[in-house]
Amino acid sequence: MSAAARKDPAAVETEVREKIHLEILKRTGAYHANDHILLPSGQHTTEYIEKTLVTTEPSFTEGLGAVIAKHFAQWPIDMVLSTGPGALILSHCVARAHPSRPIVVYGTKGLSGGKRRVSLPVEFQRLIRPSVKILLIEDLVSTGSTLSLLINLVEQLGGIVVGVGCLWRRTSVELDNRPVFSLVSRDFPTYDPDKCPFCKRGVPLNEEFVRRRHARKPSSVQEPKEA
Ligand SMILES: [Zn+2]
Repeated sequence: MSAAARKDPAAVETEVREKIHLEILKRTGAYHANDHILLPSGQHTTEYIEKTLVTTEPSFTEGLGAVIAKHFAQWPIDMVLSTGPGALILSHCVARAHPSRPIVVYGTKGLSGGKRRVSLPVEFQRLIRPSVKILLIEDLVSTGSTLSLLINLVEQLGGIVVGVGCLWRRTSVELDNRPVFSLVSRDFPTYDPDKCPFCKRGVPLNEEFVRRRHARKPSSVQEPKEA
């Protein structure tokens, strides 16, 4: 009997499903693998996700949103909450496909005094009444810190976090045993440059993603000054 045949069927199904989702992310140009990549943190790794590209293909986003909605279909949900543009697009697709027809609201994230911060517009705060059931949606979860803040915010307002759905989660992230469903659950090793095995083997370092972040500022336009 081959090793594959001995595997638990549920584990095989998860593996196949994740491969399909990874392939979809690859098609958007967001997912890069089998490379020797410099991360913004200064560490080296083999895989990278360009977050802004994840939701550029509407039909893919709709399909992935529907998979998340199906997972949470057994629970009634009143509201889907997210932060950031990518997560908001995905949360719309999840809400559209969920049988409870939840509403969609979004917070904003930023930094305040060097600390991460999440806030919710007053109009949306009013909608989180006690025992409102909320599904949190995120695109990429790497440390879970934004989600922890969102959970605190919802609970302070009396809402109930039914679960968390995301496109990609680094497996090391735990969210107080809350049900987390990710389309791809994957961790890849990161190395300090002086301990990186690829550097030791002389594999060229791909600095493209970090360079891109620094060199290319977002383009902008401005209203002309009145004459
Ligand atoms: Zn390296």
